[in-house]
Amino acid sequence: MNDDRVVFDRRDFLKLVGIGVAGVTAGCAKPPAEKLIPYLVAPEDVLPGVPYFYASTCRECPAGCGLIVRTREGRAIKLEGNPAHPLNQGGLCARGQAGLQGLYDPDRIKTPLVKDGANWKAATWDEALALVGGKIAAARTKTVLLTGLETGTMRALAGEFGSSVGAKHVMWEPFGYEALRAANRATFGIDAVPRFDVGAARCLIAFGADLLETFLSPVGQARGFAQMRAQRDDGGGHFVTVEPRLSTTGANADEWVAAKPGTEFAGVRTKSRRSPTCRRKRSRGSRASSPSARRASRWRAASPPRARTAPRSPPRSTC
Ligand code: SF4
Repeated sequence: MNDDRVVFDRRDFLKLVGIGVAGVTAGCAKPPAEKLIPYLVAPEDVLPGVPYFYASTCRECPAGCGLIVRTREGRAIKLEGNPAHPLNQGGLCARGQAGLQGLYDPDRIKTPLVKDGANWKAATWDEALALVGGKIAAARTKTVLLTGLETGTMRALAGEFGSSVGAKHVMWEPFGYEALRAANRATFGIDAVPRFDVGAARCLIAFGADLLETFLSPVGQARGFAQMRAQRDDGGGHFVTVEPRLSTTGANADEWVAAKPGTEFAGVRTKSRRSPTCRRKRSRGSRASSPSARRASRWRAASPPRARTAPRSPPRSTC
């Protein structure tokens, strides 16, 4: 009789039982959320490995530049400026480029935080929602819903939530332009934040306006600034800035006027009486617009540094 029975000794039996228990345990355990593969069951119109692009808007500052978001398998992986957007025309500042860090930075805030004395303590969403719900119910109608600058559906959602719990929705934006809007309303009767056509200016004077870093739309203005500077052969593109600190904008100006905070206009009123810089530049421009002056300007620009010590008039043709 053929005996096919497998015989284990005690040591092997215990090993096999251990592996089996581990395998069963691993099979039953829920995989941690971060190990899940997005689109395990992919939508029909999404092909794995193929990037998809979406037009969106940068919300890192109130300028609202147009974005193209590159996504792979449902995850945003790159932001670029939208070339078809009238404001930034394809440009995107460093802050906009870093917008993805809000999604993926390992040091980002990942859970609700509850103030615990001088410190912040991480809480679960259930704990946080219960806490907020209790506070709203206790405050009844004396609740303010404070958000950043929101537009579109987010603003509508915040408004709906606020009205459903009897809260007033208040938006706060560090670079708020309400004063500019009010000035526009008082001056031109238009209740809107203006957009400046920097590219068309022949002489630009900025009073405390950090055009290239923070003011209104830095990316759009940087493009306009480059266009304005391109008029230099024609005598235009002169830029004066009056500000309390030397910003990137000030560093790119032809004239930087230091002023104590709040005194920018007073200082320049005095200065403009003494030194009408832009008018002088324009008259230079009119001289430079003659054919001979333009030739001289081109010759000077093309000359190597040593040749610039030569007489400033262009060499006469001997032909
Ligand atoms: S200026 Fe920069 S941060 Fe502001 S919206 Fe444009 S890209 Fe975003």
